[in-house]
Amino acid sequence: MSIAMKAPGRYVQGFGERKKLGQSVKKLGSTFYVLCSPGGRRRFGEEIEQSLTEQEKTVVFAEFHGEATKAEVFAHMDACKAAGCDAVIGMGGGKVIDTAKTVAENLGGLPCIIIPTVASNDAPCSGVAVLYNEQGVVVKAVMMRRNPDLVLVDTEILSKAPARLLSAGMGDALSTWFEAEACRKNGVKTMARGQETETVAMMSRLCYDLLLRYGSEALDGVKRGEYTPALEKVVEANILLSGVGFESGGLAAAHAINDGFAQEPQAHGMYHGEKVAFGVLTQLVLQKTDAQTLEEVLGFLARVELPMTLAQLGITEIREETLRKVAEAACVPTQSTKNLSPDITAEDVYQALLEADRIGREYLAR
Ligand SMILES: [Zn+2]
Repeated sequence: MSIAMKAPGRYVQGFGERKKLGQSVKKLGSTFYVLCSPGGRRRFGEEIEQSLTEQEKTVVFAEFHGEATKAEVFAHMDACKAAGCDAVIGMGGGKVIDTAKTVAENLGGLPCIIIPTVASNDAPCSGVAVLYNEQGVVVKAVMMRRNPDLVLVDTEILSKAPARLLSAGMGDALSTWFEAEACRKNGVKTMARGQETETVAMMSRLCYDLLLRYGSEALDGVKRGEYTPALEKVVEANILLSGVGFESGGLAAAHAINDGFAQEPQAHGMYHGEKVAFGVLTQLVLQKTDAQTLEEVLGFLARVELPMTLAQLGITEIREETLRKVAEAACVPTQSTKNLSPDITAEDVYQALLEADRIGREYLAR
């Protein structure tokens, strides 16, 4: 099988980077459809508009209504066309980003620019967008013909975002190395439609190393509302390395278990990256990882305040029936648990969830 990788056309990251948006998109269009929440517009709308009009670009703001649904996408496609826009900017969290990507893709692959205002997930750099129904359940993954043309990351914005969201992003990024390694060992074909390149293997390892080295320092800075050089490293891991890593390195049990937690109402208040973090611990149990790696991961989870027990995931009342549903959902044929090993059963995952919880509780009791 061939090797392959995908990445955004350009990735730029820096303090105050939003003010250079106009220069960065000079050749990408003339009339920009800027999708963001009312709060996002209040905070950054004026600066975005100024930066674009300085380059003689036209700006059309559009309000995001909170869910990445088909109805939301269709409404924005109509508005984008009616306003004669030739490029789409999505500024905000994961759902704004997914909506903007789908609008650009459905309108024939318009240039797509992503400005994440939180570093909580691995969505910005990928060429995949997830749509939900009105109840918030995943209904469709839209594959774009190419990844975003530009991902512009302003670390000044991210230094002022809630600390818990940065932690969640680190949980998501923590999975990158372990899941990509599992896929590489098993020769899995990734979303880039080939096996993992050595380049992406290196990137996913770097992702893990940067988190371990700079994670807690960056988190402490954000808690004080302060920008730190450590934040630059963690943001690169959370957004660039984790994004390219999952798409071109592959997913395994950690993300499948995250999806499985949709079956457990007690965990519904948790962020994607928080559930993925516990999924990593569970995957490590499934693959019988050595004690040293386990210790390293537990130490990291503790330092950056990510869940290592079911209780920390909001599951204070453990019900066997529900937990078995989580395990079953993580093992359906379309799920990525098989990339770890094709013969893992729902029973194995159920036992691993309990064992991960036990290990986490034991660690916390030390
Ligand atoms: Zn993820």
